Amino acid sequence: MYLLRGIPISRGIAIGKTLIRYDIMKKVNLSQIKEDDKKTEITRYLNAIDQVKNEITNLVANKSGTLNQDTIQILQYYKVLLEEDFFIKNVIERIENDLYSADSALVYELEAIRKQFEKIEAEYFKSRFLDFKSIADRIIRKMNGDLELGEISEPIIIVAEEVSPAEMLHIKKELVIGIATESGSTTSHAAIIAESLEIPAVFGLRDLFNYIKKDDILIVDGYKGLVIVNPDEATVKDYKHLQKSYQKKEKEIIQVVNLPSKTVDDEGFKIYANVSNSMELNIAKRHQAEGIGLLRTELLFIANEKFLTEKEQFDIYKEYLLIFQGKDVVIRTLDMGGDKFFENSTSKDPNPFLGWRSIRVLLKEKEKFKQQLKAIIRASVFNDNIKIMIPMISSIEEVRKVKEIYKECEEEIKNEGKPFKYNISLGIMIEIPSAAILSNHLAKEVDFFSLGTNDLVQYTLAVDRNNQSVAEYYQPLNPAVLYLIHYTVVNANANNKPVSVCGEIARNPLYLRLLLGMGIRNFSVNPTYIPLVKSIIVNSSIADCKKLWNSVRNLKTAIEIERKLKDDLKKNFTEIYNSYFYDS
Ligand code: PEP
Ligand code: MG
Repeated sequence: MYLLRGIPISRGIAIGKTLIRYDIMKKVNLSQIKEDDKKTEITRYLNAIDQVKNEITNLVANKSGTLNQDTIQILQYYKVLLEEDFFIKNVIERIENDLYSADSALVYELEAIRKQFEKIEAEYFKSRFLDFKSIADRIIRKMNGDLELGEISEPIIIVAEEVSPAEMLHIKKELVIGIATESGSTTSHAAIIAESLEIPAVFGLRDLFNYIKKDDILIVDGYKGLVIVNPDEATVKDYKHLQKSYQKKEKEIIQVVNLPSKTVDDEGFKIYANVSNSMELNIAKRHQAEGIGLLRTELLFIANEKFLTEKEQFDIYKEYLLIFQGKDVVIRTLDMGGDKFFENSTSKDPNPFLGWRSIRVLLKEKEKFKQQLKAIIRASVFNDNIKIMIPMISSIEEVRKVKEIYKECEEEIKNEGKPFKYNISLGIMIEIPSAAILSNHLAKEVDFFSLGTNDLVQYTLAVDRNNQSVAEYYQPLNPAVLYLIHYTVVNANANNKPVSVCGEIARNPLYLRLLLGMGIRNFSVNPTYIPLVKSIIVNSSIADCKKLWNSVRNLKTAIEIERKLKDDLKKNFTEIYNSYFYDS
């Protein structure tokens, strides 16, 4: 039995069998074979190819009727690729001439083809490499008896180096009961999706492949960020008990959504939902969200693995706007880039979070931006409270350019004779330090602010929000970050512009009372967290929260501030504190 410590990502406890997912390019054991074993190795390889071919033939037959025409075409193309020299002749030659194991021969061949594709700029060829990789991945799994996610028939816990947001969007919640990964962090987009799916998850488990093997039994404690490998009977019993008591508490806490949104000293507040799919939309509705505070439209594109047309976007926005008719719905324009890409896009931005991301892409690719803005503007007829939000704003000029393009879109829709609402409320994310510093000027240009603290922390402290090796530098409580948040709130209030927080800190019990003390009254959170967030706010008084903020605002380090916040949470919300923290 081993105990591994990582970052708590998604609440809940899972107990079950491991399914290992690894990147074949990095994790295959590269090895050689003896002269005598050549024949067996080639047979093992060709058998795996046959199995993959049969599997694809069965899938193409589409007996379940669940595959669309695009997917069937891709699968047919995979079958053709399997006949190419690359998969047959070249790999067999490497086994015969270089005495590589079949796994190694395939990985070396894949590496050779990757280098060839790297020289070719066209996106088509880059995405073609991913087709090769995807097939090679299947062959290697077949040779080693590893299951595909689609082949699982019993509940499993995924153990992986990392899970991309795109993969996460395709996970079946009934079968994947837990996730444990080596990299990733609380604010990575894969984490945000795991929370919505309510799958217990722990990320940032260093060297986990040294401790966890295929079929091991694991306990994933998503509250405290622990993974226990091959637990003894007593530990399993304790955790089953804990699992039941947490589930009971979660059920009790849900009742709070029926209470009025008032603090103990009668101050109003609003809790909105961050959403990107119908499942989250339903949870938001069930938990009586005040509206949608952040629709991450890029995740809709990623789930569909393509850039959606104006018509496709219009239909989706319409659905969201109608479900929350009469309530605020904030549609954020594409925030593509960083860690958010289509599965088959191989952008090679050397520093993706500082590079080709978000509004920078849209201002260059103006037609795509207009396509999205027009879809939103046209959908405005379904809900008067629609709002548009622009991510990653760093300067006044960007806002002015956006406004110009917005006006062009209105003009074009008018000429097309389609109905729409003029002058939709236009807001921006404050998630880059320059935007916080310029917030007094920006407040005069836009209608509202939303603090994107996930990025604000990473850009203020120059720390990649997804990079495990610098996780200790990712400090939401760094006084510099708190200063920027508070400065933004002061400027928003002085200009009578609403401000909310939509980053992950808004759903974290440790930070909530501090945010209230700093003057935040609007929170937009992952909808699964609405009951927890509300239970803390309705049981807090603003007077106490202001005292808390005043007691930390002059402290000089994140550690001192965190200590104060932990004491405050422990004293006022002992049960919540105990489920999230261990004092060791
Ligand atoms: C943020 O940066 O805090 C935010 C809410 O946006 P995203 O997590 O999508 O970057
Ligand atoms: Mg952001």
